[in-house]
Amino acid sequence: MSFLNRFRKQTEPAAPEAPPAPAPIPSKAKGFIPPPPRPALPATGDPKLARLQQRRQALEHAIELVEQSGDPNSSFQQRIAVLDATLDSVEAEIRQTLPLPPRTLPDLPAIPIEHIGVSLDPVPSVSFSIGPARFAYAEEIDWAERGTQIVKGDLVPVEVDIDRLIPDSIAGSVRDELAAHLERSLFSFATDLRDRAVEGDTQPVATTLTDLAISCPRCGDWQLWGSICLRCLEHERRLRELNAERSRVLDERTSEVEERQRQVEELPLQRRRLAETIASIQALQS
Ligand SMILES: [Zn+2]
Repeated sequence: MSFLNRFRKQTEPAAPEAPPAPAPIPSKAKGFIPPPPRPALPATGDPKLARLQQRRQALEHAIELVEQSGDPNSSFQQRIAVLDATLDSVEAEIRQTLPLPPRTLPDLPAIPIEHIGVSLDPVPSVSFSIGPARFAYAEEIDWAERGTQIVKGDLVPVEVDIDRLIPDSIAGSVRDELAAHLERSLFSFATDLRDRAVEGDTQPVATTLTDLAISCPRCGDWQLWGSICLRCLEHERRLRELNAERSRVLDERTSEVEERQRQVEELPLQRRRLAETIASIQALQS
């Protein structure tokens, strides 16, 4: 697992905001007037006649629903109105989410990251210093072994001294935010050092403290080591979620309209079926 993936997992909100629940569709629509209960069929001893009468009632009901589907109070129009309202609100949220307001945040001084040490035995451990501050991370001893596959564990901070990295000129909530950012970025850096050693890749050179909090070219927030902007990632995730919701509502609306169209086209056939059923009933009763 790359440190980016591990990071994404860690930093995603524990309980992401649920997408707006789909509006309840049929009869809960505002203003919907349910059809009056139908009168019970007259009891008949003839099972064939009873079947025909049931068929007649079902056909009459189906035809009536289609005939009334242009009426604003019909269940079809109500469902479309609910879908349109949902679509409007999703699109408004997309418009509101689209611009990511740029931030202006302080840069950190170019203090070299030195004394980089990476050991893989007995377990991976990483250490380095930034100015007077020392940092050390190590995996915990209990490597999980499943079959022949060794599952890499996460590094755990052993020695971390973030506060000394932040100039006194940065104070208040920005300082707290920067401290939280550096904790993540240092972890990304340490994990990258570990992963490079495991893969036999060369280690980064001429790295400084500045590289742990570079301003994102898109949004101005600090990027993690590895050019990862969590703010942009979260923004993209939210837009993907909203666009998926928009597509879902549009698809549902299209299905509703197509189904109604199919029923309208079937109306002459349904009326013919009804006429035949009525004729059969009359033939039985005469
Ligand atoms: Zn960004």
